[in-house]
Amino acid sequence: LAINTHLTTHPTMPIPNPTRLRHVAVIGAGAGGLAAARELRREGHSVVVFERETNLGGTWVYDPRTESDPLGFDPTRNTIHGSLYASLRTNLPREVMGFRDYPFVYSTRPGRDPRRYPGHREVREYLNDYASEFGLGELVRFETEVLEVGILEGGKWKVKYGNKGKVDDEVYDAVIVCNGHYTEPRIADIPGIDAWPGKQIHSHNYRVPDPYENQVVIMIGSAASAVDISRDVSRVAKEVHIASRSNKDGNSSKLPGHDNIWLHPMIESVREEGTVIFQDGSEVHANIILHCTGYKYHFPFLKINNIVTVDDNRVGPLYKHIFPPTLAPWLSFVGLPWKVVPFPLFEFQSKWIAGALSGKFTLPSPEEMMKDVENFYSSMEASGIPKRYTHNLASYQYEYNDWLAAECKAAPSEEWRKEMYVLASESKIIRPETYRDEWDDEHLIVQAHEDFQNNSK
Ligand code: FAD
Repeated sequence: LAINTHLTTHPTMPIPNPTRLRHVAVIGAGAGGLAAARELRREGHSVVVFERETNLGGTWVYDPRTESDPLGFDPTRNTIHGSLYASLRTNLPREVMGFRDYPFVYSTRPGRDPRRYPGHREVREYLNDYASEFGLGELVRFETEVLEVGILEGGKWKVKYGNKGKVDDEVYDAVIVCNGHYTEPRIADIPGIDAWPGKQIHSHNYRVPDPYENQVVIMIGSAASAVDISRDVSRVAKEVHIASRSNKDGNSSKLPGHDNIWLHPMIESVREEGTVIFQDGSEVHANIILHCTGYKYHFPFLKINNIVTVDDNRVGPLYKHIFPPTLAPWLSFVGLPWKVVPFPLFEFQSKWIAGALSGKFTLPSPEEMMKDVENFYSSMEASGIPKRYTHNLASYQYEYNDWLAAECKAAPSEEWRKEMYVLASESKIIRPETYRDEWDDEHLIVQAHEDFQNNSK
């Protein structure tokens, strides 16, 4: 079967009969791929989940190994999927974080982590439980990496994959991309860095603090993992200096409550003799720069003639962050939005895709979808929002979820979940050291559990 390389739009497909069942390939068995498999199966489609690792859980499978290029520049490096560090606990309360369909409640099984903000192993266990509950494990082909996805004449999809050195391909009606986006590091541009003599590493390759003992460490970034890692490293490092955009007007100062952590504005430049200069003119002689500067979307297997591209971390054009208008509903993406609560959002996206594939839900025409995307891009530009924030849904994730819920004729997000998320986010800012062990939203926990009980009846 040859991939049609001349296609610029998907051939017009007949409008599917309602509840037509499709043969669907899902790429990735992380939380996104599992949610997709669950919803496809519920809708009656046949599903194959391709997973290149030996386990399901994606990000939540802790891998102590790191990559041969600690900054991730070298395309021939050994790629490690996961970015978890050993000490990681969730940054969301479990009630908010869990799937709506399968609440993330305490498990009484031995060895389980009962904390409200549990360690990473507990999340992996939870995803395993989710997969067992809905019989998803049997749909997964492990150690099978998708190498190419292309469109065939007639509108079907060819999925080429490798398994233990053998390459093969299969034909599907539709493909859902759930390959995650925390594997390809994004690095800050620093004037003078080529001549700077210290070590550099991206947080993708941070696991434990030991290698930082007695070092002077510069950390760039202020997101959740930067906050965690700075505390982790400060236990053994001589000094930790956090350079962050969010401190752009501030001067360098010591972080209250810590003897060896300083806050700075962004780095202005670095010098050959090892000095790092910040935008307020302060200087530090440092050994290591740790980039906690986020990740890039990456779809090396998509061979669809640039119908979907990644430009300054905008994956597009995509209708509602999911469907390329000219290929909908046959190609879709689950899990692109960030600054969100991922698992419930994956459920809504997957429900919509599964229903669109069977013809239960009708999508607008490709032209209308494209218009919607263009309007979205124009409104971003008019508000001065940079392109790389296209999939940042921080200010409207629940609006987005509820829009999807309405399309799927499903119940919108629970009020307690929205409120709990807001309180948890505030708490994270007010008490970054202790928010995982102290809270004052017991009333919402009670409501959440009442809801879980009612839904299980
Ligand atoms: P992933 O979990 O990355 O899964 C993608 C899967 O696709 C992987 O199994 C991978 O092996 C597979 N794959 C990739 N390419 C191919 C291919 N070509 N062929 C076959 N298989 C392929 N979320 C929270 O809700 N709470 C938190 O506290 C939280 N903390 C986080 C901390 C860190 C450090 C990071 C990096 C993320 C955190 N997240 C958190 C977000 C987390 O990424 C999501 O919860 C979720 O796990 C993402 O799921 P996913 O399925 O989209 O991607």
